[in-house]
Amino acid sequence: MAPTTQVQERKLDSNYAVTKALKCNPVLSENKISIRGLVGGLLKKSNPGKQLISLGVGDAAAYPCFRKGHEFASEAIAAVGASAQFDCYPPSHGCPAARRAVADYLSIGVTIPGITVRETDVFMMSGGTQAIQVCIAVLARQHSRSNLLLPRPGFAPYEAACELFGVEPRYYDLVPQCGWEVDLAQVRNLTDSETVGLVIITPNNPCGVVYSVAHQLQIAETARDLGLPVIADEVYGHMVFGSNKFVPMISYAHVAPIITIGALSKRWMVPGWHLGWLAFTDPNGALKKIRAATEALMNVTAGPASIVQATVPRILSDPHQEFHRNVIRLLESSADMVYQRISKIETFYCPSRPQGSMFMMVELNTKALSGIRDDMEFATELIKEESILIIPGSVLGLKNWVRIFFGVPIELLNEACDRIESFCKRRQLKANGMI
Ligand SMILES: *Cc1c(COP(=O)(O)O)cnc(C)c1O
Repeated sequence: MAPTTQVQERKLDSNYAVTKALKCNPVLSENKISIRGLVGGLLKKSNPGKQLISLGVGDAAAYPCFRKGHEFASEAIAAVGASAQFDCYPPSHGCPAARRAVADYLSIGVTIPGITVRETDVFMMSGGTQAIQVCIAVLARQHSRSNLLLPRPGFAPYEAACELFGVEPRYYDLVPQCGWEVDLAQVRNLTDSETVGLVIITPNNPCGVVYSVAHQLQIAETARDLGLPVIADEVYGHMVFGSNKFVPMISYAHVAPIITIGALSKRWMVPGWHLGWLAFTDPNGALKKIRAATEALMNVTAGPASIVQATVPRILSDPHQEFHRNVIRLLESSADMVYQRISKIETFYCPSRPQGSMFMMVELNTKALSGIRDDMEFATELIKEESILIIPGSVLGLKNWVRIFFGVPIELLNEACDRIESFCKRRQLKANGMI
């Protein structure tokens, strides 16, 4: 009898028929709204008569124009595979050569004496996402209900990891009228004895802001006063436009301890490789226990695949200037174009031109739009009529705003802006309240 049939018969005879579904982790049982779930629902509604343009979930690697000079990635992975030297388990904290390469990369441009990143300060992670999860898992204090300060609008995986590890997410505002700077007075008010850290994302997803050195220093000083580590999400590090400069948060490690989250995903256009890192920079040793906990956690879980780790020294040791220049040039012209076009649409308010990353936030004037009560309805109606996907701000904590991803070829973006514009025109209420 063929094995498949056996399995089937066993199943039919089974005594295990379950009349009542077995319980699962309660944290995962509520089917909470996730961006992926929401996007899936919206995509089903797109207009079959129009080509879909996604300004929703960001993956610029899907477009050939962002991959000019990208051969270094396929060559690195091919060379590593062909060598057949990376088939064993990697060390649990990461391959030494990869850790070394990330440590050197993070140290570029840091001029404060005494601030260096050592190989042992770096832990290789399965993407920036695992770095977020590990960071929150090790910061969580089991015997008390700890809390973590997160930006609003924010990046949803932080909240998800908080829920998973029993940490309360506490939101501080990024203030649109102040160039999306952190409301530091609010950060002070929100902090209590159970606060375990302050998360900062710069260059920022979803607002597109890049913090000035002055603001970075204020953030570090606030963290120092409150006795908190700064968790610096620099997944978009160096992805800045115009006169904006990227300064890594570890430049302030003499002020407050810094935990850096990074990844190859966005800057090197290889999000599917799931290669990220978590790095500790604390010249005063404040993160000693947290670092030891990270070692312990990584000893019982798995990091990135050995083959992917083995590409890291090769990828990070070369500046790949032409490749990065092309990406920045494309993103900058996309950002400028979308900012200019969206600003002209009367029903939108666009507080600032994006300075980095691949995202911007735009406020909706729902009162001026007929048949649209909020950002959710705007996103739903827009995809139904125009096949344009955008993320409603409410899933990022900001109602009646929308997030626009601009890491798409400029012709597509232009077409998307045309469709958004004509959608808004059709829905716009005239001053007297009539359509
Ligand atoms: C994409 C992203 C990450 C996650 O990185 P992956 O390597 O894709 O897991 C982390 N933080 C921010 C702000 C991101 O946009």
